[in-house]
Amino acid sequence: MDYKASDYIQNLQYFGEFGGVNPSISDSSTYTFLSAKTMFDTFDGNTEGCYLYSRHSSPSNLYLGEALAALEGTESANVYASGMGAITSVLMQLCDTGDHIVSSRTIYGGTYAFLKNFLKKFKIDTSFVDTTKIDLVEKAITPKTKMIYCEAVSNPLLEIADIKSLATLAKKYDIPLVVDNTFSPLTITPAKLGAEIVIHSLTKFINGSSDCVAGVVCGPKDFCLALKDVNSGAGMLLGSTLDSLRAASILKNLRTLHIRIKKHSENALYLAENFEKDGLRVVYPGLKSHSGFPIIKKQMNTSFGYGGLLTVDVGSLENANALMELMQQKNLGYLAVSLGFYKTLFSAPGTSTSSEIPLEEQKEMGLSNGLIRFSVGLDNDIHRTYQMMKKCMVTLGILKSIEVSI
Ligand SMILES: *Cc1c(COP(=O)(O)O)cnc(C)c1O
Repeated sequence: MDYKASDYIQNLQYFGEFGGVNPSISDSSTYTFLSAKTMFDTFDGNTEGCYLYSRHSSPSNLYLGEALAALEGTESANVYASGMGAITSVLMQLCDTGDHIVSSRTIYGGTYAFLKNFLKKFKIDTSFVDTTKIDLVEKAITPKTKMIYCEAVSNPLLEIADIKSLATLAKKYDIPLVVDNTFSPLTITPAKLGAEIVIHSLTKFINGSSDCVAGVVCGPKDFCLALKDVNSGAGMLLGSTLDSLRAASILKNLRTLHIRIKKHSENALYLAENFEKDGLRVVYPGLKSHSGFPIIKKQMNTSFGYGGLLTVDVGSLENANALMELMQQKNLGYLAVSLGFYKTLFSAPGTSTSSEIPLEEQKEMGLSNGLIRFSVGLDNDIHRTYQMMKKCMVTLGILKSIEVSI
C-alpha cells in the first residue's frame, strides 16, 4: 500500500492576507470577539474554529496541524512546542492515576525517562516489552492498560514495529495504539496501518534544519479537540504551545520533506550497503540482514526508501569516540545528537540520547558501547563521503583494508 501524503500536502494551499504565496503569520496572543456571547460559547467549547487565545490555537498552528494531518492521514492534528510536549500531553490525557501502559523497551530516552520516572508521581506504571514479539505485548496487557506505545522505527536500535499486528491487538483490548513516527515520516504511515494516534518530534526530519524544537499529535478529531479542551485538555493545560512564527517556518520546510527523505534514504542505503560489505556490523532497515526487513518492506510507502538512520558498531566506546572526532575534523558531519539535518550527525547513543536507560538494560536490549548512530545527511556525492569515512576507519585501525582511493 502506498499512502500519497506528499500529494495531499501539495494540494493544501494557503494564501497570505495580501495574496502572498505563504500564509500570513498571526502575530497575536489574543483575539477579539464581536459579541460577548461568542466568547462564552468558545470557553464552553462550542465554537470550534473560533480563535480565543494562542495557547488554545492560532491560524499558523492550525495550518501546520492541517498539513501534518494530511501527512499522516488522520482526521486532525495539534502542534506542540516540542516532541516531548506532544508525547507527554498524549500520555497524561489517556491515563489517570493507577493506570498502566505497555511500551516498547527501545524508545527515545526522554520518553523512557518520562514513563519510567516521572509518571511514578501519578502511580502510572509502564511495562517495557520487546514489541517485536506480539505474544509478549499481549501478556503485558492488564485491565488497567490504557495504550500500547511504540516507535515505528525505534530509537536507537532501528527495530521495526509490526504496526498492523500491534493495532489488531490494541483493537482486541479496545485501547489505542500510539506510534511515535519521528524516524520515518512519509516512509511509514502508521494511521493507515491501524494506529490511532501518531506523534512526531518535528525537530527532526520534518523541520529538517535543526533550528527549533516542535512536536505534533495526529489523531481522531475528538481526541485532538479533547487535548485542547480548556477545562481538561492536557495540551491546553500543560501549556506546551508552539509559537506562530515557528509554526510558519516549519510549514515552509515541510514543503520539501519528500525530496529530503528520498535523498536521506538513498545516501543511508549507500553507506549501509558499503559498510556492510567492508565487514562492519551495520544496522539499517533496508538491509536484508535486518530482522525487520520483511516487515518494513510490507508496510512502507516504497518511493521514500528506508530512512536516513543507520547504526554501525565499531567495537568499543574508545573507537566510537575517536572515529566521531576524526570524521568531524574531516567535515564529514557533526558530533551531535538529533537527526534529520542536511549534514550528517553522529553520536554514541549509550552515552547520549539513551543514557537515561540504565546500563544493564542497555545491554539487554543490544545497545552496545561501540554503537554509533548516523543520521545521514543530504551529501550530493555520497560515494566521496563513503571513501572519506572509510579512510578515517582505516586510519584508526577500525578497518584493515587499504583500498581507499582518495
Ligand atoms: C527527539 C525525539 C523525541 C523528542 O522530541 P523533542 O522535539 O526533542 O522534544 C521523541 N521521540 C523521538 C523518536 C525523538 O527522536
